[in-house]
Amino acid sequence: ELARRSEAMDRGDTSELRTASRHAYLEKRKKMKVEEMRDEIIDNELIFHGVKMTNAEEQEFRRKKEIYELVKDRVGKDADAGDYYRMPEAYDAAENLDQAKRFAVPRQRYDDPEASAARGGRRSNFFSEQEAWEEQQIRKSRLNFGSGDGGRAGGGYELVLEDVVDFVKSTVQAGAEPDGEMDELAEAVDAKVKLQRELQDERKNLPVYKFKDDLLKAIEKYQVLIIVGETGSGKTTQIPQYLHEAGYTAKGKKIACTQPRRVAAMSVAARVAQELGVKLGHEVGYSIRFEDCTSDKTVIKYMTDGMLLREFLGEPDLASYSVVIVDEAHERTLSTDILFGLVKDIARFRPDVKLLISSATLNAERFSDFFDEAPIFKIPGRRYKVDIHYTTAPEADYIAAAVVTVLQLHVKQPAGDILLFLTGQEEIETVEELLKQKMRTVGSKIAELVICPIYANLPTELQAKIFEPTPEGARKVVLATNIAETSLTIDGIKYVIDPGFCKLKSYNPRTGMESLRVEPISKASADQRAGRSGRTGPGKCFRLFTEYNFRHDLDDDTVPEIQRSNLANVVLRLKALGINDLVSFDFMDPPASEALLKALEELFALGTLNSRGELTKTGRRMAEFPLDPMLSKAIVASEKYGCSEEVVTIAAMLSAGNAVFYRPKDKLVLADTARQAFHAGNVGDHVALLNVYNAWTESGYSSQWCRENFVQPRTMKRARDVRDQLEALLERVEIEHCSGAGDLDGIRKAVTAGYFRNAARRQKDGSYRAVKSRQMVFVHPSSGMAELPPTWVVYHELVLTSKEYMRQVTELKPEWLLEIAPHYYQRKD
Ligand code: ADP
Ligand code: MG
Repeated sequence: ELARRSEAMDRGDTSELRTASRHAYLEKRKKMKVEEMRDEIIDNELIFHGVKMTNAEEQEFRRKKEIYELVKDRVGKDADAGDYYRMPEAYDAAENLDQAKRFAVPRQRYDDPEASAARGGRRSNFFSEQEAWEEQQIRKSRLNFGSGDGGRAGGGYELVLEDVVDFVKSTVQAGAEPDGEMDELAEAVDAKVKLQRELQDERKNLPVYKFKDDLLKAIEKYQVLIIVGETGSGKTTQIPQYLHEAGYTAKGKKIACTQPRRVAAMSVAARVAQELGVKLGHEVGYSIRFEDCTSDKTVIKYMTDGMLLREFLGEPDLASYSVVIVDEAHERTLSTDILFGLVKDIARFRPDVKLLISSATLNAERFSDFFDEAPIFKIPGRRYKVDIHYTTAPEADYIAAAVVTVLQLHVKQPAGDILLFLTGQEEIETVEELLKQKMRTVGSKIAELVICPIYANLPTELQAKIFEPTPEGARKVVLATNIAETSLTIDGIKYVIDPGFCKLKSYNPRTGMESLRVEPISKASADQRAGRSGRTGPGKCFRLFTEYNFRHDLDDDTVPEIQRSNLANVVLRLKALGINDLVSFDFMDPPASEALLKALEELFALGTLNSRGELTKTGRRMAEFPLDPMLSKAIVASEKYGCSEEVVTIAAMLSAGNAVFYRPKDKLVLADTARQAFHAGNVGDHVALLNVYNAWTESGYSSQWCRENFVQPRTMKRARDVRDQLEALLERVEIEHCSGAGDLDGIRKAVTAGYFRNAARRQKDGSYRAVKSRQMVFVHPSSGMAELPPTWVVYHELVLTSKEYMRQVTELKPEWLLEIAPHYYQRKD
């Protein structure tokens, strides 16, 4: 019976294997085949020179040959040989895409009573068959290809998994069913060729295309060029490709293109890889903090501006790049501003390097002024007329107003997609939920509304969804953060709804406190947002504020981030680059000297700088970590307290995002109980994060465990990734791996060693006062310390919502402050 079934599987016959997971397995298998084939068959040449297809027979032959080559090439190849690049989302999407991995841990699945009940009890039976079947497949694959290593099978399912995947690939290699496989492959080639043609046509339709030759000439002529063009004209996706075609990537040189946002870097890189018909991470890749999706082959590298800044540490002249594009320059992020000074310097002593500063249509002259009168290359964009509507009276609740407006537009306005700007993930999720509820209640009376959220932490595979064409008869509504203002262009948007807010970092140099707040946007921002509706035709923008507000209350421009940030991080980076004299550093808009001074003070207090302002040994170690100085200090200090293992875990959890726990509406009590368990003994939020991570590790990184404990598997996977990288850095800066085995005070002291500035003391009225600044702050309701608030606490960060909240709070003994930071705190009496 088993043999018969397994043969059926091999034939792709699913008729008697109608279980969800087997089906998924087949899907997965098919997909892998197609993917592999796609990547190998379409060689770069074919794409670069356009798809010339004159003779149908020749095409056919070529295709078959390619398929043959593919199949032949694959035989006997070791999947681990580095030929297969694993996309980062494959980790992220393990839940949905990586079915093979699911298969690898069947025990967890049939232990799940809910699922088992849903399958009417047949489940365990099925899975024992399933296991037997897998065993058999594995054995078979070994027999066929002799790559088996008997020891591995017994070693656990995690390892078996690799073999299962190998085996799937091996079937392709062996060409077991030549006809079926060939057909399938051929079909996919057709689809790929078609898609490529379409993509190439789209590329030619972008405004920048007409200026390709002029642009390349200008770049050849001038070392520094400012490029200005309407959002969506093709600056980000096309210019690096033009440069690549023009030979700027010859001789092993690369093109760097910086983006202020992680999502933009990933998304644009994915698009360009697709346009070039290459696999993401090969010729085209991206690099963002804690995630490097590039390889030796990479010649076009999208990266966050912060990552390029880090690259200066290892390669002060950026010698491996022939072109550096500072994209989205108008955003004026902190890192972009610093890059300006650094790349300007490089251009002076590297005549061979080209520097492109690319920006939306804002303030181009300022860039030109800064870069010694560099010429401005304007790409005339298409921008259609946009009607701007204001509310007649101010809206008290812009979320509610936004939801109503979306529905109103959906029901009353002609076809065209909607883009709604919100300030962050939480707001987006709220609106998504509200819209779904409303749509459910109106039922089928109105057309379908496709809701697409986009924000920084959105899973990669969902990010792509915003670019998918809207189905016939439906309308798409994109719920986006500022990322859709200029970084990402979504085609088909006709209506923009703008509540007029965004989340901004703000810094008070007097108190030295930085916090994220929701603030009104600038006029320039509002106009950019409105412009998003007029890209493909006349558009409409609905501002959820009054015209009076717009004229009188909004600033003209957003203040550059450098003027509203804690500069400790920047100062540390610059010092690590050997730039000691910050006052004469070439800033486009110099930060307030007060803020620079504060940063120096802070670094001095952390032991990063000595009294002459030079980096200490601690400072050099701290600079290696891609973290805020306080967090790097906690890690460096952990060695002294014998708990580097634990503190690295906590740092990874803090860096992996704020969404560790989730609270499904129908299981609030269960979720809160599960969460409280990690706080047992009122250990504090930092140690609770450690507990979560350790428990997850003990569960074998199980998703089932995550579900049971209402923990986000995605955050955990990311934390694991981050942790691996931080651990590697420990080695690099020679910090001993040590574990304090239960000494919680050691851990708390290490945290305090980094965060002593964030100490707060409880007042009689229950509020807290920050010890140094005297500012009134509160324990965030999500904190495990919210119920039993201790007298002294140290916190990770401040978030301003309705109040100034401390997020991630741990109890502190006041004498530690004197012990750890005697230069910062003195006893009063
Ligand atoms: P610019 O940088 O000038 O604002 P882009 O190069 O980002 O313009 O965009 C050019 C075109 O590429 C736009 O039409 C946009 O919709 C499309 N595009 C960009 N990224 C993606 C993506 N990830 N998926 C699909 N289309 C994309
Ligand atoms: Mg762009």
